[in-house]
Amino acid sequence: MVPRNFVYEKFSEYYKNPSETINPPSLFDQREFGFFLLKEKVMLRHKRFGKKTGLKSFLSEVVPSDVYHSCAYYENPDFEMSKKGWRGSDLVFDIDADHIPTPCNKIHDEWSCGKCGFTGKGVTPDVCPACGGMKFDTKTWPCELCLQSAKEETEKLVVMLEEDFGFSPEEIHTFFSGHRGYHVHVETESVRTLDTAARKEIVDYVSGLGFALVDEEIEEKRQGRRAVKVFVLQDFGWRRRLKMGMEKFVTSATKEDLRAIGILNYNLLKKKEAILQRCFEEGRWDSVKGVNVETWRRLARRIRDLESAKIDTVVTTDLHRLIRMAGTLHGKTGLLKVEFPISKLASFDPFKEAVAFKKGTARVSVSSAPEFRLCGEVFGPYRNQTVELSTAAAVLLVCKGRAEVVQN
Ligand SMILES: [Zn+2]
Ligand SMILES: [Zn+2]
Repeated sequence: MVPRNFVYEKFSEYYKNPSETINPPSLFDQREFGFFLLKEKVMLRHKRFGKKTGLKSFLSEVVPSDVYHSCAYYENPDFEMSKKGWRGSDLVFDIDADHIPTPCNKIHDEWSCGKCGFTGKGVTPDVCPACGGMKFDTKTWPCELCLQSAKEETEKLVVMLEEDFGFSPEEIHTFFSGHRGYHVHVETESVRTLDTAARKEIVDYVSGLGFALVDEEIEEKRQGRRAVKVFVLQDFGWRRRLKMGMEKFVTSATKEDLRAIGILNYNLLKKKEAILQRCFEEGRWDSVKGVNVETWRRLARRIRDLESAKIDTVVTTDLHRLIRMAGTLHGKTGLLKVEFPISKLASFDPFKEAVAFKKGTARVSVSSAPEFRLCGEVFGPYRNQTVELSTAAAVLLVCKGRAEVVQN
């Protein structure tokens, strides 16, 4: 076997035996399909399939590295963009570790500017700090801790979609992306024809942007000669979220926690019992001396940052977005994009349930890889060594550009 064809062979085997895991999206004949081709390294777009069997035989024939479908429904999905006839679009969210500043990304993620070669660690910037270039080569890793962070963001998002927006669990579909995050698709009549501006409103809501925190909630009420500052945190939506989050924070905060958000007196700690009773129980926010509006504002900002869901905002507002199809392989990992029930979100294990290649082994020469886990087996860390690995682990390392297959 020619080493560089290893991934092609494995992907080909997967698509030649289309199991039930390859399941096209709802109303697939109204959607545009796109493919990134492994051999030719080009993107093929504007494809339409009238039958599931047509799509499946196409996959086994061309062996793409990545398979996408439009979130949109079109009259003519295979026409050029301006002539497709947009009928509507699912509401989709992408939660990716690329957008979450985790403590470990400085260890396993690197980027280099495509223009000047400047390099850095951690989250890739929008603009190169050295030359202003906007194209980067990135070296990332589907790290367990990063994926856990992405899952926590997904949990917050799903709670908002259910409790604040009122979508039912049947309307919300949750997926592991196959790489470093999760996708949430809301598929229901009521979202289908929302325009970009409406979707931006939803993005702002889940991101905790564009609404007044406590400072603007204050109204001055005349009570005799004294001006009493009042703000109300009702038990619904973000107001409830802020109140619960603030209460939790005050209950367990340390001096370091307060300093970290710029609160330099410790009245929140010293008067904790009075605050929990009078401010949170009775809603008398101004009743504790030394806890002023500025303190509440700083606290509310911190809770907003903690409770908002870190989504990739451009994905949700794009009406023509292509998104990876469930049951297909991710070209950067060889893992599957898989759907799972919302109720399984907390216990979902991507390193077990998204593994496609469960048989055989391969001998690979690894340049570098951190420790990782697949199907209950722990691998690495590796540096400049040749090892015999399970097929899934070998595919992951080769896809990630960390290893090459060597012949026995
Ligand atoms: Zn640069
Ligand atoms: Zn990480």
